Amino acid sequence: MGDILIIDDMPDNLRVLSAILTKQGYKVRKALSGQSAIASIQASLPSIILLDVRMPEMDGYAVCQILKDNPRTSRIPVIFISALSDVMDKVKAFDAGGVDYITKPFQEAEVIARVETQMRLQKLQHQLIQRNEELLHSNRELEQFAYAVSHDLQQPLQTMMGFAKLLMMKHETHLDKTSVEHLAGILESGRRSQQLIQGLLSYAQLGHQEHELDTTDCTVILDIVLENLETSIAEKNASITYENLPVVQANQVQLVQVFQNLIGNAIKFVPEGRSPQVLVTATQRETDWLFAIHDNGIGIEASHLKSIFEIFQRLHTAENYPGTGLGLAICRKIVELHRGRIWVESQPGVGSVFYFTLPA
Ligand code: ADP
Repeated sequence: MGDILIIDDMPDNLRVLSAILTKQGYKVRKALSGQSAIASIQASLPSIILLDVRMPEMDGYAVCQILKDNPRTSRIPVIFISALSDVMDKVKAFDAGGVDYITKPFQEAEVIARVETQMRLQKLQHQLIQRNEELLHSNRELEQFAYAVSHDLQQPLQTMMGFAKLLMMKHETHLDKTSVEHLAGILESGRRSQQLIQGLLSYAQLGHQEHELDTTDCTVILDIVLENLETSIAEKNASITYENLPVVQANQVQLVQVFQNLIGNAIKFVPEGRSPQVLVTATQRETDWLFAIHDNGIGIEASHLKSIFEIFQRLHTAENYPGTGLGLAICRKIVELHRGRIWVESQPGVGSVFYFTLPA
């Protein structure tokens, strides 16, 4: 059961309130002035404070303000007490950080109900904070695990690939057709594992790196992306259009990754025989920039619009469309690190629009 501090300059009020709450099983402390209350709170934090508005020297609003300005005491709920005859400035009380108020003469049931509500809320808030911390901790652990595993797997895989390549180079001509095929299979699976590990490593690394923001011209970013995608653009005879892109505060390397993954997908997920037409636009809104990457590709069924942003989620086999299923998970993580959002709208068979926001 929580400990309640009552602050009131009238001993009678203190006595009445204290009696009501003690009867309910609460441990009650009392203070007759703002100054003595602050000293008492600093010595030991109460769960809830009942605070008289009208007191000589330091009034309730001032006491509350001092408590709210101090991170150690800012979370303690303050319930203001005022006489019904007083014109209590309720807005001022809430502005000062009060969570509720009770009026004199005290109605026992009301006092108990208001205190219990705050106790319950506070308990829930503590649980929420604790769960959040636990979640953050386990997320961090999972990221560290993914990083360590993918990092440690790289070396032995590289050695295996090295030996397989050596075998192929030295013995391809002496081996029978089936053995050569097996060896080619080993090399292909090895390459795929390397891709997955590298993807996982860059995904896990995102949480570890310093998140530095620079003034970034998106047109320059798009120029870099198109250069990186030059080969597949030429192979697929793709047309990529963009205009009036803004300058934003962003991590340049990460923004290249976002655009490259999204435009790379827009070129990749296109039916046989159709030339990819990709349009990149940016619209300024009240508090952010809305980017959109429009494509004329195969589209995505409504039931998959959310899941494709999860790690390793793919809707196709590697034979139809190669990939790791990490691109969009990386995009989402980067956009969220920038305090933005990412989502997609799509019409199967016609095309998709991937949207993401960045704070303006
Ligand atoms: P990858 O491209 O490596 O498969 P992503 O995480 O980039 O992985 O994408 C996940 C899945 O979402 C893809 O496998 C594909 O099924 C779907 N997808 C992504 N972009 C598009 C797009 N522009 N059009 C249609 N489907 C897409």
